[in-house]
Amino acid sequence: MAAGGAADGSGGTAGQTAARVRASDPATRAGAHLTVDLDAIAANYRILCAQTGDTACGAVVKANAYGLGVDRVAPVLARAGARDFFVATIDEALDLREILDAAGIPEARVVVLNGPLPGTEPDLVGFGITPVLNSLDDLARWGAAARAREMRLPAILHVDTGMSRLGLPDEAVQVLAEAPDPLAPLRLDGVMSHLACAPDPDNPENAAQLARLRSALALLPTAPVSLANSSGIFLGPAYRFDLARPGVALYGVNPAPYRDNPMHPVVHLCARVLQVRQIDAQRGVGYGSTFRAAGPTRIATVAAGYGDGVLRALSNSGCVVAGGQRLPIVGRVSMDSITVDATALPPDALTAGDSVTLIGPGHDVDALATEAGTIGYEILTALGRRYHRSYRGGDG
Ligand SMILES: *Cc1c(COP(=O)(O)O)cnc(C)c1O
Repeated sequence: MAAGGAADGSGGTAGQTAARVRASDPATRAGAHLTVDLDAIAANYRILCAQTGDTACGAVVKANAYGLGVDRVAPVLARAGARDFFVATIDEALDLREILDAAGIPEARVVVLNGPLPGTEPDLVGFGITPVLNSLDDLARWGAAARAREMRLPAILHVDTGMSRLGLPDEAVQVLAEAPDPLAPLRLDGVMSHLACAPDPDNPENAAQLARLRSALALLPTAPVSLANSSGIFLGPAYRFDLARPGVALYGVNPAPYRDNPMHPVVHLCARVLQVRQIDAQRGVGYGSTFRAAGPTRIATVAAGYGDGVLRALSNSGCVVAGGQRLPIVGRVSMDSITVDATALPPDALTAGDSVTLIGPGHDVDALATEAGTIGYEILTALGRRYHRSYRGGDG
């Protein structure tokens, strides 16, 4: 069998091939670099704590801490004082419990927002996960799990006040108020709801949701209450209750878009120039030739594309920063690269191997999101796996 053997007589075998050592380091090989500032995340947590005052401040770390790496982010937040962690899925909850155990913070609470799926009760109980109960059905099943184990299992009850997504609708709250026995086998650790319009303080839906939550609370047993996400924290004290659940603000996205961003920037994304070329008027750029040069134009091809989470919606609408200038993305975003118009820079100011900034000083996550017609949440959670990732600070 010749497969895997070296054809050049060097004596290599398949085994030796697999063990080949890469001489360059990953940072050198990577076309793009993502840096996450863990100290900025801790500082953002402290800013939110200062804002919430007497209200406890939890941390939402779903979707791999909004794409930034929950294994690095959660211990930093725990060391900054967070004790209530929220994730979306059960797998995220199980992973997070192991991360927090390894970090020496086993007492932290892990809450799974999507609730207990049938058949997952043994894992939720075994790993000490608190499910959010989103329906009377969830409540019945989690109650049955508690009875079967003769344990008062923890639960947070979610009341829908206007998202119409998850949580007990008004009628279900009414049913529970009239016959509260499904709650008897459980330890009700909280009642929560979620705001639909919190980034817009002038939206009357905010006050309407607050009023509906107050009506529901009047019908339910007393328990700590949680309503505010990142933006909700900035709507004022009435929205804060006992526990806040910020996510995106921890990661540097502006929770209050109607004012200057009070959060520290967390993410720095830069990518290398692969090639620079001069094109003449009318020459097309990229797939579909959606951009045509109006005159002599210098095009720099940069090593990050939609395969890395540079959204295709940035085609002919986004920009990068280099040499203190904003350079427009021209043509379509490709899988592995983008093309930018570098004509505004002096001819030798940007050459192959140089870096341009996609997210960083002068062009933050919110700016890139606006250019893509989306929100910072989507930019962060789309951040790709090919970037060389490094973390700053967060020692402990
Ligand atoms: C994602 C989520 C949060 C966090 O929201 P941010 O806007 O990122 O602060 C809070 N609560 C629930 C129910 C969520 O789904």
